[in-house]
Amino acid sequence: MIKQHDLLAFSLANPTHAEKKVEDYEFAEVSLLETGIVTIEPKQKAQISLVLSAGIHGNETAPMEMANDILKDILDEKLACSVRLLVIFGNLPAANIGKRFTQVNMNRLFSGAWQKEEGFEAQRAGLIEKTIADFFNEGPDSAQRIHYDLHTAIRGSKYPKFVVYPYLHERPYSAEQIGFLEASGIEAVLLSHQSTTTLSYFSSEQHNASAFTVELGQVAPFGENDHSKLTAIRHTLRTLIKDEKLIGSHDGNMKIFQVIDGLNKDADDYQLNIDADFENFTSFDAGFKLTQSQLSEYLVKQDGDALVFPNAKIPVGQRAGLMVREVALSSLELN
Ligand SMILES: [Zn+2]
Repeated sequence: MIKQHDLLAFSLANPTHAEKKVEDYEFAEVSLLETGIVTIEPKQKAQISLVLSAGIHGNETAPMEMANDILKDILDEKLACSVRLLVIFGNLPAANIGKRFTQVNMNRLFSGAWQKEEGFEAQRAGLIEKTIADFFNEGPDSAQRIHYDLHTAIRGSKYPKFVVYPYLHERPYSAEQIGFLEASGIEAVLLSHQSTTTLSYFSSEQHNASAFTVELGQVAPFGENDHSKLTAIRHTLRTLIKDEKLIGSHDGNMKIFQVIDGLNKDADDYQLNIDADFENFTSFDAGFKLTQSQLSEYLVKQDGDALVFPNAKIPVGQRAGLMVREVALSSLELN
């Protein structure tokens, strides 16, 4: 069905469309639903429905290579698959040209936002939403729903491996997932504070999945990724797939940050007072003038407050960054 079980090579060669194919393996039914989208339905009853998505930004290649290796080992029957599994490669046309996207940033198009846009990314985002909805709905009611949306970042980070935990609207955080993320080598968790149009928020909010945007270091072209940096998460994901087991670590080494302020570009002359090679989660002393414009300035409120996702090259009215502050795990409501 897929030559040499290499979904990534197949999908890059067929970036916009592939005919649906279903193949019966001894252990599972394997379906290529569209290009870059495969489901595995084990013959034995599964307790976990797992979505692994990668390449929602086309140039973020390391997670695509990692997910591809996992899928290849399953199809080669080198890795048993006990979970229901959906693998998605998001933006293949962009991946082919080494770009984040071709027309629109796909990770701003979920929870229906794609309906207001045109072009490949919008169409693909709609298809990905429907695929995830069908996948979760077709699983047993009792199945635990999990979605890791895997990325790498353009900008450096004090914590190269970190996750964004989507806003939960009063639902408790998952202690089991936090333990799994720590065991996966994730160094920091950023607790989102509002609804967004990201893919992980879509799965969390609309499908009640434990879902995360997982940042796994910096962007590099296909074939140039240092996969030794991903040893821990490769191991935890493979164990999850093989044994339906979430390995947990609770050493307390993982930092947790909550958003305290959004920085908004309020005028054309808005300025962020940071270096060009600024790393996410860099902290400041209280009183530092972080932004200024003809209408406002932002002074850092407390020693140690840190900045993530800074970007002043945006239209007036959009978000120029998030101010975050470390919080203790014990202060969170966990289930
Ligand atoms: Zn990304």
